[in-house]
Amino acid sequence: MKIGLGYDVHAFTQNRPLILGGVEIPYDRGLSGHSDADVLVHAVCDALLGAAGMGDIGEHFPETDPQYKNADSLNLLKAVWQIIYSHHQAIINMDATLFAQAPRLSPYKAAMREQLAAALNIPVDRINIKATTTEGLGFIGRGEGIAAMCVALID
Ligand SMILES: [Zn+2]
Repeated sequence: MKIGLGYDVHAFTQNRPLILGGVEIPYDRGLSGHSDADVLVHAVCDALLGAAGMGDIGEHFPETDPQYKNADSLNLLKAVWQIIYSHHQAIINMDATLFAQAPRLSPYKAAMREQLAAALNIPVDRINIKATTTEGLGFIGRGEGIAAMCVALID
């Protein structure tokens, strides 16, 4: 078994939907980025690639590549899983944390788990998602962006 860690940050911006874990969350701002800026899915991708010892999401899906502009990050996750699956590895479990001062993300955690489990074709109980604030501290506390961390164990 091998473990991997993923971490990602995206800044808030106007006039974009807020998409986390493949779920569109009602809010007055979204996250900026080349793709749909799904910070949770990006952290999950990096955790899986890290566990597999296969680099990071930027190596496989360069930000400069126009085909990933506004890309649905769940499709990136599916592609990451294909890369890993070709090496006969299975996901034991993943545990992720979202760091956001606002909006409140707890009501959406179950939907995010379902989206991630469906994209990876694994049972929902192998994925755990947590959400926390930073007690008003730092760039997250000031509402400048959202961060996500994920660990993944693969076999
Ligand atoms: Zn990202």
